[in-house]
Amino acid sequence: MSLIATNLTWAEVDLNAIKNNIRTLQELTGVDVMAVVKANGYGHGMLPVAKAALEAGAAYCAVARIPEGIELREAGIQAPVHVMGPSLSHRFRDAIQHHLEITLFQMEQIEPLRQVAASVGRPARVHVKVETGMNRIGADPDDALVMLQTLAGIPEIEVAGLFTHYARADEEDTTTTDRQEETFLQFLQTVTENGLRPKVIHAGNSATAVTRPASRFDMVRAGVSMYGLHPSREVRLPRDFKPALTWKTQLRHVHHIKAGEGISYGHRYVTSGEERIGVIPVGYGDGWRRTDENEVLLHGKRAPVVGRVCMDQCMLQLDSFPGAAVGDEVVLLGRQGADHIAAEDVAARWNTINYEVTCGISARIPREYLR
Ligand SMILES: *Cc1c(COP(=O)(O)O)cnc(C)c1O
Repeated sequence: MSLIATNLTWAEVDLNAIKNNIRTLQELTGVDVMAVVKANGYGHGMLPVAKAALEAGAAYCAVARIPEGIELREAGIQAPVHVMGPSLSHRFRDAIQHHLEITLFQMEQIEPLRQVAASVGRPARVHVKVETGMNRIGADPDDALVMLQTLAGIPEIEVAGLFTHYARADEEDTTTTDRQEETFLQFLQTVTENGLRPKVIHAGNSATAVTRPASRFDMVRAGVSMYGLHPSREVRLPRDFKPALTWKTQLRHVHHIKAGEGISYGHRYVTSGEERIGVIPVGYGDGWRRTDENEVLLHGKRAPVVGRVCMDQCMLQLDSFPGAAVGDEVVLLGRQGADHIAAEDVAARWNTINYEVTCGISARIPREYLR
C-alpha cells in the first residue's frame, strides 16, 4: 500500500544516496571511511544506514555510546564499531562482549578496563583520544603518551586506534585547525619514534575529510556528509553527494475561514479576508519547530505555515493553491517537483544547523527506506 495511505507523516530515506555518498567519500579521500551512525543515524535510522554504508564499503561504524554499539551488534553487524564518546566503567563488560572499541582518555579507566577484560577473557579494544584543541574529551599529549606507554605493557588492552577531533574544521579560516593538526602531527611523530603507533590513526570529521588531505591519515569519520548534508555554510560538499532524507506529510483538512478569524493557539495569525487554510498533521512533537517562519512544499511550490505550530499539527495558508485538496502530498524537507527545501534551509529558519534538524525528527515518524 502506498505510504500516503498508511501514514500521516513519514520520512523517506534513500539508501542508494547513502551508498553513493560513502563511495564518493572513499574516492575523494582515498582512505577508509568510518560511517558515523550515532543519534539514530543523524535521524535517518541507525540500522539501515549502517548496513547500507557497510555494503558500500565503509570499514568501520562509529557511535557515541555503548548502547548504540550493542544495537548494531544485536542487528548482526560484524564490522568494527568505534564508540567515540566517554564510557562508564559499568559498561566495560558489555563493550568487550560486543567487540566495541571504546574511547580511552583517562588514566583512571585503564585499570578497571584491564580487570574487566581479564575476567571476560578477551582483550578490550580501545582508541586513545588525544586533546589538540577541541577541549571536550581527550588526554593532553603528554598524558596520552604515558597512556600509550602504559597500555603497551597491558596485554588485556589492545590499542586499535589513536585519534583527535577538530573544533573549527567547518570554517573558512583554517588557523585553529592548522594549529590542531600541527599538534597532532607532532604527537604522532613522538608516538612513532617510541614505537607506539597504533594501526589506525584518524582525525577528520566530514569537513576535515573534504578540505584537509593532510588530516585524512588512515580513516575519516564521516557523519553529516554520508547523509548528503553540507558540513557548514562555509564548507560545502562537492556536487556528487546526494541528500538522503525527504520528510513528507499530507494535507488532512482544507477549509475556508472568514475574515478576521484567529488561527491556532494564541490566534497569532488573523485572516485578513476570506482565506483557504490547510492542516497538516505535523508539529513540534515530531521535531517540526514551533517557530514563526516555517514553510513547506505543496504542488512543487512553497506554502507558508501560519499560526502557532501545535504539538501534532500545523496550518498552511493556501490562497495561492486553488486546487489544494485533502490527501495532497506535502514535503517539509527535501524535493517536490521543481522545488527543494534543504535541511540547510530549515536550519537557517530555525537559527541552528542542519545536523540538529535531521537529528530532531522524532522517533514517532516512521522511516521508509528506498533501496
Ligand atoms: C559526530 C562526530 C563525527 C562526525 O562529524 P560530522 O561533522 O558529522 O562528519 C566525527 N568525530 C567525532 C568525534 C564525532 O563526535
